[in-house]
Amino acid sequence: MKRCELCGRAVETTKHHLIPKNRRDSPIARLCSPCHEQVHAAFTHHELKQDFHTVDRLRDADRLQSFLAWIRKTDKTDIRVKETERVRKWRE
Ligand SMILES: [Zn+2]
Ligand SMILES: [Zn+2]
Repeated sequence: MKRCELCGRAVETTKHHLIPKNRRDSPIARLCSPCHEQVHAAFTHHELKQDFHTVDRLRDADRLQSFLAWIRKTDKTDIRVKETERVRKWRE
């Protein structure tokens, strides 16, 4: 069974390149689509590359905690949050 490496839910996952813009050499994490979108909404490519290039670091990132606490309680995979709402959510 597939499992999202960030929220731990057993759902379909997508490939996230942990080092953006270096797809050939980048390690890959399997993230569900809401987590994947949230990661890219919360971090710039530069931040991902510099500071959040492992799943452990993403999982511990302050700005993802409220999102992760929420997503772990749902079984939704088709979440399409507007950018402003995403940004608001992770700032809470
Ligand atoms: Zn997830
Ligand atoms: Zn990605």
